[in-house]
This record gives sequence, structure tokens and C-alpha cells, in this order.
Amino acid sequence: MTPLPILTGANNPILRTKTKPVKKITKDVLKLLKDMEQTTIAAEGLGLAAPQVGHGERVCIVKLHGKLMPLINPEITHKSREQEIAEEGCLSLPNIWVQVPRAVSIVITYQNAKGAEEERKLEKLEARIVQHEVDHLEGKLIVDYGEHPKPL
Ligand SMILES: [Zn+2]
Repeated sequence: MTPLPILTGANNPILRTKTKPVKKITKDVLKLLKDMEQTTIAAEGLGLAAPQVGHGERVCIVKLHGKLMPLINPEITHKSREQEIAEEGCLSLPNIWVQVPRAVSIVITYQNAKGAEEERKLEKLEARIVQHEVDHLEGKLIVDYGEHPKPL
């Protein structure tokens, strides 16, 4: 388990490439998830998506209720109509903060590390974290919502 270097830059082509679903949860996929978990801890992040460490698989790590967990092939199956605007940062965009509107509650499906399908309803910060990471898996970044560098 090794923390991986995090790619940065709004125009980085890897960060802008849509990821591909994981067909089989191989040892390599599990190792990637472990390394991503270590990377998230080292960076003190709330989440991390595979493109941020140079990988093209549809996987991410998210901090839900204080615990880091891997999401394999996550999909948002429902978004509440109610939205909330809050400031977000991104490990791949140092010193940039953006006011991003997000659905207040969502339902997601994903596979866990054992390959079992799971479904969860998430609200508020947890819903925001997952929407941010799923954006990464689509090649989308917070600056796409409008850039507002923080005044010094
Ligand atoms: Zn990010």
C-alpha cells in the first residue's frame, strides 16, 4: 500500500477522460483501491477518484460517516430536486474553491470490494462527496461549475 502521486490541472487530459466500468474485480483493482485509500489518508481528502491517480477504471474512494470506503462502478440512480450550494475544493485543483450546486440527497448503486451490488441513500455532505467523485469519473471538475479563486 503506497500513497500515489495526485495529478493536478483543470486541463490534464487524464482528469478529463471518462472512466470505463470495472468488469472483473481483479487483484490489480483491489490493490489500486488500497493505494487510493492510502493516498486519500495522506492527502487528508474526503474522496479520491481513479483518474486523479492516473487510472481509467470507474472506481473511487469516499469518506462516508467518517469512514473511507471504495465504490466500484458507482452510479447515481436518483437525485433530489432540492439543491444546496456550498464551497468545494479538489485535491487535483490546489488553491481553487468553487461554489457548486449539488442535490441534497441522492441514491447510489455500486459494487463493494467483494463484488456485491449495494444501494445507499445519502444526504448533505455525504451526497456532495459522492457527486464530486462521480463527476471525476465522467471527466468533470468543479471549475466546470464556474471558477472562483479564493482571495488571498
Ligand atoms: Zn476532486
